[in-house]
Amino acid sequence: MKYLLKNLIIVFLVFLIISGFFTLLSGQAEKTGKISLSQLVEQINQEKINKINIEGDKLNIETKDNVKKEANKEREISLTESLKNYGVDPEKLKLVNIEIKEESQLLFWLGAVLPFFIPLLIIGFFLWYMFKGAQRGTMQAFSFGRSRAKLFSPQDGKNRVTFKDVAGLKEAKEELEEIVEFLKNPQKFTQLGAKIPKGVLLVGAPGTGKTLLARAVASEAGVPFFSVSGSEFIELFVGVGSARTRDLFQTAKKNAPALVFIDELDAIGRQRGVGLGGAHEEREQTLNQILVEMDGFEPNSGIILLAATNRPDVLDPALLRPGRFDRRIVLDLPDLKDREEILRIHSRGKPMAKNTNFTEIAERTPGFSGADLANIVNEASILAARRNKKEIDQDELRESIEKVLLGPERKSHILSKKEKEIAAYHEAGHALMNASLSHTDPVQKVSIIARGAAAGYTLKLPTEDRHLHSRSGFIDELAVLMGGYTAEKLVFDEITTGAANDLEKASDLARRLVTQYGMSEKLGPVTFGEREELGFMGREIMTAKNYSEEIALQIDKEVAQFIDNGFQTAKKTLIEKRKKLDQIAKELIKKETIERKEFERLMKRKVK
Ligand code: ADP
Ligand code: MG
Ligand code: ZN
Repeated sequence: MKYLLKNLIIVFLVFLIISGFFTLLSGQAEKTGKISLSQLVEQINQEKINKINIEGDKLNIETKDNVKKEANKEREISLTESLKNYGVDPEKLKLVNIEIKEESQLLFWLGAVLPFFIPLLIIGFFLWYMFKGAQRGTMQAFSFGRSRAKLFSPQDGKNRVTFKDVAGLKEAKEELEEIVEFLKNPQKFTQLGAKIPKGVLLVGAPGTGKTLLARAVASEAGVPFFSVSGSEFIELFVGVGSARTRDLFQTAKKNAPALVFIDELDAIGRQRGVGLGGAHEEREQTLNQILVEMDGFEPNSGIILLAATNRPDVLDPALLRPGRFDRRIVLDLPDLKDREEILRIHSRGKPMAKNTNFTEIAERTPGFSGADLANIVNEASILAARRNKKEIDQDELRESIEKVLLGPERKSHILSKKEKEIAAYHEAGHALMNASLSHTDPVQKVSIIARGAAAGYTLKLPTEDRHLHSRSGFIDELAVLMGGYTAEKLVFDEITTGAANDLEKASDLARRLVTQYGMSEKLGPVTFGEREELGFMGREIMTAKNYSEEIALQIDKEVAQFIDNGFQTAKKTLIEKRKKLDQIAKELIKKETIERKEFERLMKRKVK
């Protein structure tokens, strides 16, 4: 509305200027004395006129005493004729010098064209002005397809994050430093025939520092860094997301070498073909466009796509295929040492009392993420301020733990001494079983830091990609799964809910052995049940029963048999190696997390 008013005023002014110009022109004509035709005839008869110049309808008259006058001729009739009509003396007329001048062509054309042209000009001006307004963003209708990526400049002083501000996550930092090296110095790698990765996926629980780490890379990389959140691709209109993706990559290519960061990738990268509705269509198109772009750029074109997600399980397999996000960096929840460092980082520049003991706070907070810990320090300073203190005390820190726990995001619980012991034996049971059997993958990590519902976890990673799994592998796997349960039973003569998830997994695996893989000796190589994948409602799998009750009973018996075999193996092994079990559990209670190398050393160590 404001713009319309402004436009109107401008148009009005233009009119004023044009009309003023015209009046000025005609006003000038008035100044030279104007006479009528009858006056002219009179003067001719009196022999006062020397010369008449005819210019169109205009007569420029010069008298004998050199005075200039003007008159208008009648249209369509020649001058002599109209003069005759006014009663001129033909003899006297002969004495007058009459010249005929061509009418000015330019003026004639201007006179013909201007009346049409001026309105056109005004309309054109209007349109141009409105378009300019739109471009400036007053009307966003034309800028939908542009990506909303923010460009981080390394010199950006405010909110600058460096690797120093990120505690722990040593492996992740190393990997990312290598990626930066790829961008800065590609020849070094390509000379040796190495293919530089196209995509790097940061995977980790919420609050483990994925976004933080990406921002640190932005300031350390020294290359342009485009950051965009996955949800920003999704708009009300279908097709916007893919247009934005195209725009994002185009901009990045112009600025290569460059890093492109897509935060919360799962907002767009979910598996295609599941879910209903328009938003889902849109997501699919956006995802397709990302895949196309990733295939589009050459491996060494100087663009690396960085993405972060806390739900790698829901990502479309096409994204995870080699050649796309071929590198995955897992960000773990911080262990004791890292928790202490995070607390230290976040209390920098805050007045901490001399008695603060970060180690104690770290010990009390297994399972807390970096974000939780940052929150603890913040809550502590709020608490201290409320108490009108000048410094943040250990008491405030301690109280904040509970505050963060009982807050809206209750994620974990403080382990009591007894709980910690049970968790340690449970995980030690898994780990020891894993190390004792021959068809298993090496233990990567044992930890009693709570994760989700489980009080701890034992991470095993295959040394090579495996597509076929053997029966003996499954049987060992069942024994490892039963290891936690068995250890609890053996040591405490009691079972906790901590083993529930293991039992569920074991039952599921055993059932698959019998009904899908035909690995039961009694039932033989037959599959049971028709499996059907349902598109909607996630990836639910329905099994239709196509066998008799009698077979069903046998299946249940076989499943129970498989699980019991696993339990017996675990029991036998753990009783045999009870001292080793104690040793591992003790180490776990002390350190909370044992890495692969340490675990291997521990297994070789003599038991006292
Ligand atoms: P997410 O993994 O969910 O993206 P963020 O990167 O947003 O998590 O982390 C949230 C906040 O938690 C950060 O801004 C930072 O203050 C804190 N934080 C998380 N991890 C760390 C860490 N390793 N070192 C220091 N601060 C951390
Ligand atoms: Mg994040
Ligand atoms: Zn377990």
